[in-house]
Amino acid sequence: MKITKITVKPVSVELKEPFRISLGLITHSVSAVVAIETDEGLTGYGEGSPGILVTGETLEGVAACIALFEKRLIGRDPLNIEEIHHILDRVSPHAPSAKAAIDIACYDLLGKKAGLPVYKLLGGGDNHLVTDITVSIDEPAAMAAKAKKHAGAGFDVIKTKVGLGFAEDLERVRAIRDAVGPGIKIRLDANQSWSPKEALRCIEYLSEYDIELIEQPVAYHDIEGLAYVTKHSRLPVMSDESAFDSRDVLRLIKVRAVDMVNIKLMKCGGIYEALKINSICEAAGIECMLGCMIEESNIGISAAASLGVARRNITRADLDAVFSLRELPIPGGADFSRAKLITLSEAAGFGFMP
Ligand code: MG
Repeated sequence: MKITKITVKPVSVELKEPFRISLGLITHSVSAVVAIETDEGLTGYGEGSPGILVTGETLEGVAACIALFEKRLIGRDPLNIEEIHHILDRVSPHAPSAKAAIDIACYDLLGKKAGLPVYKLLGGGDNHLVTDITVSIDEPAAMAAKAKKHAGAGFDVIKTKVGLGFAEDLERVRAIRDAVGPGIKIRLDANQSWSPKEALRCIEYLSEYDIELIEQPVAYHDIEGLAYVTKHSRLPVMSDESAFDSRDVLRLIKVRAVDMVNIKLMKCGGIYEALKINSICEAAGIECMLGCMIEESNIGISAAASLGVARRNITRADLDAVFSLRELPIPGGADFSRAKLITLSEAAGFGFMP
């Protein structure tokens, strides 16, 4: 099979409601939707969702980068994913979400060529994945009401954001715990808001509310600080912004900087690299969560969920972005009609139906 053409379509979809995290406010899902055409008449679909607050990429930059990739990929075999990534890495050492777009489209083609859904190609059996749902930063009563609504709809894990002030964080988390009761798990994400010592103080108090884990307590570059928090924290500490790819994860594990790792296709460049991250973590006895960008659509989430069901060491999923979209850029892919459950398509590839 040979690649004959790669098209990129920048897509922006308004979220049902603006979403606030400690790093900023997000109002739209933005992604570069990619179609890789081949000489066999099969087309693979992917997306690069830049998430500028995390990856530093913009939609225009991702689209421009994919256009550069196209020049090097025409005539190449999209099923030779190892070689495809080698080529992408030589065009740019970074650009993870642009690479993820190509990677996802190649896996889509691999599934279509094999006549199998990608989750089966990756070794998965069950096509259901349970995800949490994230409550955006707001007034405590509003957050509590949303958390209660989600729990009532069937979600059993609520993720929420902290890091906009010690007293406010406590008030918000307390309000959520009071609203959902003891049977619902709560996981927290500080998105780099704290110094290491602040983090320990906040965690000490927040842990009263039966918290499952805390994500990215300190600045992404402060690996020593992250290791300090992990060593002294009552709660399990998960990296997010501190680890993009397998090399970052290896570095964190070597200095015991984390208890768990949040893998995102848009940070690492797609399924190919995510598999490496998960293998390193598994060997080190570290469980992984699959996360997503708030700006991601059903394309990226279908790909991530396909990986999630295929790896035992991926024990958690935070793949809730699609629940906040007003519309989908491409129909098909995984089904999101039931609260907390992502049901993967049984069609070949990811099952997108453009
Ligand atoms: Mg996070």
